[in-house]
Amino acid sequence: KEEKDRENKIKFFTEEMEKKVAEKFQIQNQMKDAIKNGEIQIYYQPIISMESGKLESAEALARWNSKTLGWILPEKFISIAEETGQMNYFGEYLLKRICQDIKRWESLGLNIVPIAVNISVKQLENKKFGDMVKKIIKRYKIDTKYIEFEITESVSTGDINIIQKNINKLKEIGIKISMDDFGTGYSSLEMLLNLHVDKIKIDKVFIERIGKERDEKIIMTIIQMARALGMKVVAEGVETKQQLDFLRNLNCELGQGYFWAKPMNSSDFKKYLIKNFNNYETKG
Ligand code: C2E
Ligand code: MG
Ligand code: MG
Ligand code: MG
Repeated sequence: KEEKDRENKIKFFTEEMEKKVAEKFQIQNQMKDAIKNGEIQIYYQPIISMESGKLESAEALARWNSKTLGWILPEKFISIAEETGQMNYFGEYLLKRICQDIKRWESLGLNIVPIAVNISVKQLENKKFGDMVKKIIKRYKIDTKYIEFEITESVSTGDINIIQKNINKLKEIGIKISMDDFGTGYSSLEMLLNLHVDKIKIDKVFIERIGKERDEKIIMTIIQMARALGMKVVAEGVETKQQLDFLRNLNCELGQGYFWAKPMNSSDFKKYLIKNFNNYETKG
């Protein structure tokens, strides 16, 4: 009986593994077609000034609704793109799409805000990354004040020399850098300063646990540290009034989360920009 149990367990395990491998293979194979077929969309989520309630910037988030596989989470397809060496190609495509959106909003005469673009370590480790960004920004004639980049603490595990050179190139042309998901990975104060990080985004796991003393202490410490280093703070994943009040009391500058708005597709975000602009026009 025990032998049979063991066999079943192994069988289940291999089947699960095979399913995972097959799924990964499908996603990997369909990525290029998904780009061609327009299955990849960019969604935008507002980032709000806690003090004034005004729209300050927005984060661009990739979405994939596959005809055959349904919705695929960005965490999944980004990590597969990274593993299979497609992240540079994919990242370049996403940046172009974002630049096209910015151009469209500009041509409509909208009040544009800076758009924060997520960059994977794999992209930052590519020697050509900085120049690729410069080229695209020039080609689309984008004012660099409208582009920001979000990097993660995993840059600490990457090739720091190349990453540093790429970041320097971006900083030279006036692009701002945020450290995303802060508090969950490994980053040193030295790294934050060397990479000239402008903003720190507190990971939503801490915001979720506001009300618990331990997590509140972590948030307070991050805000104090950021202030000492001259960096702004964004709280991500703000969902409730209680969380907002706690963060406001600490003078956290910026917030992002379902409390204000969920990520929305390009057309809805355009409407959001129009509405937002009109509101502040009339309010003065
Ligand atoms: P991230 O950069 O930390 O993005 C924030 C995530 O939090 C987004 O998940 C967003 O939808 C979610 N979020 C925002 N507000 C709330 C809230 O109030 N409650 C909750 N529960 N969640 C909230 P999303 O869009 O699923 O993206 C997940 C991750 O995938 C991103 O985390 C980022 O690491 C990666 N990602 C997404 N788009 C891109 C991309 O274009 N390039 C790269 N390299 N990575 C991307
Ligand atoms: Mg991000
Ligand atoms: Mg984040
Ligand atoms: Mg995240």
